Amino acid sequence: MLEELKERVCAANLDLVSKGLVVYTWGNVSGISPDRRYVVIKPSGVDYAIMKPHHMVVVDLQTGEPVEGDFRPSSDTPTHLELYRRFAGIGGVTHTHSVNAVAYAQAGMDIPALGTTHADYFYGGIPCTRALTEQEVDEAYELNTGKVICETIMERGYDPMAVPAIVVRNHGPFSWGKDAAASVYHAVVMEKVAEMAMKTLQLNPHAAMPQYILDKHYSRKHGPNAYYGQKGDH
Ligand SMILES: [Zn+2]
Repeated sequence: MLEELKERVCAANLDLVSKGLVVYTWGNVSGISPDRRYVVIKPSGVDYAIMKPHHMVVVDLQTGEPVEGDFRPSSDTPTHLELYRRFAGIGGVTHTHSVNAVAYAQAGMDIPALGTTHADYFYGGIPCTRALTEQEVDEAYELNTGKVICETIMERGYDPMAVPAIVVRNHGPFSWGKDAAASVYHAVVMEKVAEMAMKTLQLNPHAAMPQYILDKHYSRKHGPNAYYGQKGDH
């Protein structure tokens, strides 16, 4: 079942390697079926060099149980599932330990919106969550990682599709999009804007971007009055 989705999710996982975001078996990408009943995700511990679509694991969105596949799903699966359950617009999720985004996670800082590269994709800073409590880590670490992401989005009161990424404190980046490929795309852009922000703040710790430039650049590409690029572009 879901052969086409397995192919797309496998390709998205391999894209993490070609874009330089992961080494070893770090990182994982998933995608949800059109009826939002099943999630296809990378298997746990399979090397990227031999990864094929048939290695992908199909899990039930509600129970998290594998329904097809010879491998165990990525250990981060409960985090992905929580995001799909909470936000109907999310069609794909990516998690990496890319260096510059992780640096913000480890520093406990939002990735600030300092320029138009950021504003083209993220309508505001990319939030950093709180740290998980010891109890949350002991009870259900991966599920609670998903819950703390959702809690941050709800508490800050923004549209997760307008800022389709977050960093989990002391851990690293998660991103999402309309499908698996879009979530990888946002992971790549997040890593780049994190690097740009870090260098900017080294030069000028008080650097900032006026709200009207953020508004202009985000609305050029997104929303009812978008005019940048061709129909169907990112
Ligand atoms: Zn991780």
